[in-house]
Amino acid sequence: MTNPPFSPATTAELEVLRAQLGRPARGVIGIAARCVCGNPTVVATAPRLADGSPFPTFYYLTHPAATAAMSRLEAGHVMPELAASLDDPETAAAYRSAHEAYLRDRESHGEVPEIAGVSAGGMPTRVKCLHALAGHALAAGPGVYPIGDAALARSDWSPERCVCESPGAATGVRPT
Ligand SMILES: [Zn+2]
Repeated sequence: MTNPPFSPATTAELEVLRAQLGRPARGVIGIAARCVCGNPTVVATAPRLADGSPFPTFYYLTHPAATAAMSRLEAGHVMPELAASLDDPETAAAYRSAHEAYLRDRESHGEVPEIAGVSAGGMPTRVKCLHALAGHALAAGPGVYPIGDAALARSDWSPERCVCESPGAATGVRPT
C-alpha cells in the first residue's frame, strides 16, 4: 500500500504498464499498489497530463485481470448492493473520508481547477466505477475504504495471488 509521495516508476515498471494497458501509460507519477509478484496493479497518475488535459483518476487500476474482474462485477448486480450499503451512516462517512483523501492525495501533485472537488468512482455519494474504487482501496490498503474493499472481496482477483502474464517482470522491485 502506498500513498504519496511515490518513488518514480522504473523503466522495467513502465514496460510492464505498457504491456498491461496495451499502450504507454500516461502521466505516471509512481506505482501505488502491486501484485504479490511485484508487478504494478495501480498507477498514480498526474492530475494534468502532458497534453494539458485534466485527469481525475489519480489511482488508476492497470492490471488486466483486476480490471476484467471489476467489469464483471459492474455487469452483475453488485452495484445496487454497494450503493445500498451507503445507507449505513458509518459506511457513508468512510466513503466521504475516502473522497476527501483522494482529493488530498491528488492535489499534492497539483491543483487542477477543471476537476476541483471531483474525485472518482462516484465518491462521495454514489457508486459508479468499481475500477476507480478498487484502485484507491488497493493503494490505501485493506480496512480503510469499505466500498472498494467490498468490491475487491467480491471479485475473483486478488493482489495476493499472482495471475500476471509475466510474473515478476518487475523483478528487483520490492513489493510494498
Ligand atoms: Zn503478479
